[in-house]
Amino acid sequence: MIIFKSINKLNKEVNFKADIGFVPTMGALHQGHLSLIKNSQKKSNKTLVSIFINPNQFNNKKDYKKYPKNIQKDLKLLKKLKVDYVLIPSIKDVYANKSKKKFKIGKLNKILCAKYRSGHFEGVLSVINQFIKKLKINKIFLGEKDYQQYILIREFLKKNSNVKTILCKTIRMKNGLAYSSRNRLLNHKSIKESASLILKVKKLFNLLKKNLNNKSIIKNFINKNKIFNIEYLELRNKNNLSKKINKKNVKIFIAFYIQGVRLIDNF
Ligand code: AMP
Repeated sequence: MIIFKSINKLNKEVNFKADIGFVPTMGALHQGHLSLIKNSQKKSNKTLVSIFINPNQFNNKKDYKKYPKNIQKDLKLLKKLKVDYVLIPSIKDVYANKSKKKFKIGKLNKILCAKYRSGHFEGVLSVINQFIKKLKINKIFLGEKDYQQYILIREFLKKNSNVKTILCKTIRMKNGLAYSSRNRLLNHKSIKESASLILKVKKLFNLLKKNLNNKSIIKNFINKNKIFNIEYLELRNKNNLSKKINKKNVKIFIAFYIQGVRLIDNF
């Protein structure tokens, strides 16, 4: 495993003709990240993992500051998986020659996470743009847990590159809660409560699929689960996130706060 702290150095030493799979992360690695990496290793010749907490995608300074970090543990995990290349760039390095590109995310800017985290996805696309401009990767592996992010990156890359986007399924703990770096900010009780909410959402989704027009079910659910401070709970079309849903294309999306931490998930 070769660790690079500079993008230039990586570009000099890595042969990009070798079909490279890219797994961008913000570190504090967990089973979800590891499954993305394993997927890339199956489908690519070489795998490059980046660890970069992108300040541009945080719409809240406190959230940025308290974001979990554990580089030494991360490197151990990556070494164990025999990852080929790890990139841990500085902010200056990533945003050197900052492009003036404006990231328009159109209709998707007004829904789900974008509605509540102003500027978040523009920040995500700006870092992806820097990476794909500077690294000649072939494929990028993204998790289903962050589904809106996946859709936005997929559309962005379709328009602006030849990079292929590969969606990897959400990995969950035994109790049903999706692995997330932010789970590390929660105590045991909050983890348990979040898991029970997620299981209830899954059941609700199965019920809703039988009657997609019954809007009061969602309203009642939010009212019954007030302790969670649900930010949104919505049904959307998985192809384009529109509200034109049917039994085949529907997905349910949730964002909620617990112990001051914001978690998202979808089924
Ligand atoms: P992050 O480090 O949170 O920016 O996530 C890096 C990548 O890992 C993103 O593509 C996420 O969607 C993905 N990811 C995060 N959690 C999970 C999970 N539980 N299962 C699968 N992928 C995940």
